Amino acid sequence: MRIEELYQLFLQHPSVQTDTRKLKEADLFFALKGDNFNGNQFALQALEKGAAYSIVDQVVSGADDRIIVVQDVLSTLQELSKYHRQQFKIPFIAITGSNGKTTTKELIHVVLSSHFKTYTTEGNLNNHIGIPLTLLKVKADAEIAVIEMGANHQKEIAGYCKYALPTHGLINNVGKAHLEGFGGIEGVKKGKGELYDYIRETKGTIFINNDFDYLLEMSEGIGHKVSYGTHDALTTGELISSEPFLKVNISSTPEIGLINTHLVGDYNLPNVLAAVCVGLHFRVPPNKIKAAIESYQPSNSRSQLIESGTNKIILDAYNANPSSMKLAIENFAKLPAEKKVLMLGAMAELGEASLAEHQYIIDLIQKFNWHKVVLVGGDFNKISHSFENFKSSAEARDWFKNQQFTNTHLLIKGSRSMKMEEILS
Ligand code: ATP
Ligand code: MG
Repeated sequence: MRIEELYQLFLQHPSVQTDTRKLKEADLFFALKGDNFNGNQFALQALEKGAAYSIVDQVVSGADDRIIVVQDVLSTLQELSKYHRQQFKIPFIAITGSNGKTTTKELIHVVLSSHFKTYTTEGNLNNHIGIPLTLLKVKADAEIAVIEMGANHQKEIAGYCKYALPTHGLINNVGKAHLEGFGGIEGVKKGKGELYDYIRETKGTIFINNDFDYLLEMSEGIGHKVSYGTHDALTTGELISSEPFLKVNISSTPEIGLINTHLVGDYNLPNVLAAVCVGLHFRVPPNKIKAAIESYQPSNSRSQLIESGTNKIILDAYNANPSSMKLAIENFAKLPAEKKVLMLGAMAELGEASLAEHQYIIDLIQKFNWHKVVLVGGDFNKISHSFENFKSSAEARDWFKNQQFTNTHLLIKGSRSMKMEEILS
């Protein structure tokens, strides 16, 4: 079936589903294949459950004219999303980087949606399936779209750009994340830089954090740059306090001034500045920008502050890599509290750098005074040290249950696979 024909079906059935368990009446079912499943096997079941059509790429037993056979379901989904994307003459802002993509995306979304009909990535659906699904959710009334792009190897972002066709790009930062797949830090720069490459070629606009020299280098040759940062930028902001929530003073034209956020962690400052910068660029009124950022509450274990009795817990267990771990520990060390407890889970996907990066974190921890330090799993277990050591977050939880902390600040952080939030369950 030609993409134009499929698009006509999509217009009649604009709700796309790839999971039969979540299927609703009249959905278009795309039978994707994964490592552990083959959607083709569910194509008929999807129709029984009310799907309007099932798009498959293998012979499915049982004749039904609602089964549409294509060469490859995934690339068809991506092509369809491109076709849909091309119907819009509005800004599409792509966000990538090593750390803080989702937080930045959500902050930009609250700012823009205070003034425009804005569509954005749900949660963390930022890959080769999530991005097409996000694009297909953009409705005719859209005025701006904000798309999160996650990647752990080369050519991935370049691939997303082929169907998301971003008009604006933002790289948050380049850090030590997914070192294994990208092949070291230079590899991460190259991989994330594919967004700049696309914007350079298409003469689009970037939002750039001028504090990072490497971003300035990577962005050479791009004509339209809108800058933010702590100094020497169009929009600048400084941290007034972070005890525990960030209070930021913005210098900009038009003026915004103080913003009292509900975010913890100094590392959120650039994320806030990015959102302010994007808001001002699209002429969102300053009072709306301020109100939107002040109303934003993080969730899903991303820099959340939980008060429990006399204790304060910074739950930052959504993910971790050497760059974000370092910033989180240094930020936590600065907080004024007498008793501080660190509960850190191992960092994943670091390849041959893994042992050294865990050793680096252990050395960093030793530079400060802590009431207790708990290290969980992975390469933390392989390095000898004098801290509490557990194999899993379940073991750490059992230990935690028997502690009687009062007037204590705790930081909980680790890779997604470590599930460090379970310590609190
Ligand atoms: P993912 O790769 O899983 O999509 P992400 O890039 O979307 O992650 P977030 O989910 O926004 O990132 O944040 C994850 C964690 O990264 C935060 O909880 C915080 O510890 C850290 N972080 C957030 N912003 C920054 C930043 N600007 N610089 C460094 N670390 C950050
Ligand atoms: Mg994310």
